[in-house]
Amino acid sequence: MIEKRQFYINGRWVDPVQKCDHLVINPSTEEPCALISLGSDADSDAAVSAAKAALSNWAITAPTKRKRYVEAILSEFERRRQEMAEAISIEMGAPIDFAFSAQAGCLEWHLKNFLVAFDEIKWLRPLNDRSPGSRIAREPIGVVGLITPWNWPMNQVTLKVIPALLAGCTCVLKPSEEAPLSSMLFAEFVHDAGIPAGVFNLVNGDGAGVGTRLSSHPDVDMISFTGSTRAGRAISKAAAETLKLVTLELGGKGANLIFADADDAAVERGVRDMMSNSGQSCNAPSRMLVERPLYDRAVKIAAEVANSIKVGPASEHGDHIGPVVNKRQWDLIQSYIRKGTEEGSRLVAGGPGLPHHLNRGYYVRPTVFADVRPGMTIEREEIFGPVLTMMPFDSEEEAIQVANDTPYGLTNYVQTQDDARRNRLALKLKSGMVQMNGEPLAAGVFFGGVKASGRAREGGVWGIEEFLETKAISGWAD
Ligand code: NAD
Repeated sequence: MIEKRQFYINGRWVDPVQKCDHLVINPSTEEPCALISLGSDADSDAAVSAAKAALSNWAITAPTKRKRYVEAILSEFERRRQEMAEAISIEMGAPIDFAFSAQAGCLEWHLKNFLVAFDEIKWLRPLNDRSPGSRIAREPIGVVGLITPWNWPMNQVTLKVIPALLAGCTCVLKPSEEAPLSSMLFAEFVHDAGIPAGVFNLVNGDGAGVGTRLSSHPDVDMISFTGSTRAGRAISKAAAETLKLVTLELGGKGANLIFADADDAAVERGVRDMMSNSGQSCNAPSRMLVERPLYDRAVKIAAEVANSIKVGPASEHGDHIGPVVNKRQWDLIQSYIRKGTEEGSRLVAGGPGLPHHLNRGYYVRPTVFADVRPGMTIEREEIFGPVLTMMPFDSEEEAIQVANDTPYGLTNYVQTQDDARRNRLALKLKSGMVQMNGEPLAAGVFFGGVKASGRAREGGVWGIEEFLETKAISGWAD
């Protein structure tokens, strides 16, 4: 078993102040795969004080030099990408090929996009040509606490650490205690890239411990958080006393509006996008709304596609889906599947229990419920597993009303060949992102939501600006 009890503080690996062992469980086997430590207040304080001490120098390090350090992190990743894929695969159950291409691939994708965006940041600029003495300056926010979840571990770490470093902030990362191995490997990349001591620190821990300490710490100027709406609320409350800035990326319950004139592959694409990563994506298109003339055919296609999706261990090569992350999530998903039937929706694929060929591991059968009605529990709540809900609609107005009637607002999806309708819907859906006709969001765009999905804007120029203060100056001498 891997033993990684130390934290990365002030440029070196150090023992925890108090011993507090924590087993990381491989969800494919239910066996422990690693032993880490959960940090205490003293560990958190040591990391914050290292970050604070490093801030003044890092904040005035030339942006071009900060950029070179980040490029060096990318080189380390390119050299050790396979190790990164393996770490993600064992800690959270992503099948190894998916872990290599998609999960680890996120690091490269976001980092390269940040390097392009970085050149667009105007560190000091005139307000306009009518106010010669006015300047707008962008400055790092300061010491930032970064708290990340397990479902796309490197995606979120990259979306937070890289822009923080580029902006001139110093940071303390607390990765999810469920998936800490990828972040510890990432810390090795940062170290080997030669980033000065104290600029980046990592303390493992849980939400009640390190998470709460960072959120309430007087020397932490900002918390950037991704995870559940529940934890987002707790962090906002803990942070209130010190008036620090809090940015939140939370859950989702995306609607996928499929009109009768959608392209033939729209339903299949919607099912596969839902089941990908075993349904553990906050932007999953979990509510499929289908225009009535297409509905019965769509239900049949969705069931066939779900039944064709293979489920298996993360260590095996192939395009199957893996287990969900842990027993708690497995139990929760099972309770949603039971509730779906109890509340009267029609189970057309999957269902409760393990897939027939597996008797160990947190595997969930790709499940589809048809005839779900607005207001049912599985229509309202984020399930965070491979469970799709399907509902018919009769008019565009009804589809918009149902899509928007949710506490969440992360990504909505539209499938129609009608250009005018598509553009209309893009503007009427209440979400941070709208993806249409299977077109992925472009390189350099941000990721972020509205309402209970949180309002962070991560990625690209917006993602760097999240870590910058804006200062207005008058009387500037040219
Ligand atoms: P979680 O909220 O339980 O944990 C996320 C992180 O927050 C972990 O590092 C955890 O230790 C920490 N944490 C938990 N409670 C805390 C507290 N009180 N104070 C400080 N830190 C705390 O969520 P999870 O189970 O790890 O992830 C699943 C959830 O995250 C889902 O709801 C999902 O939709 C959401 N999520 C959202 C996005 C997004 O970008 N919007 C991305 C990924 C996951």
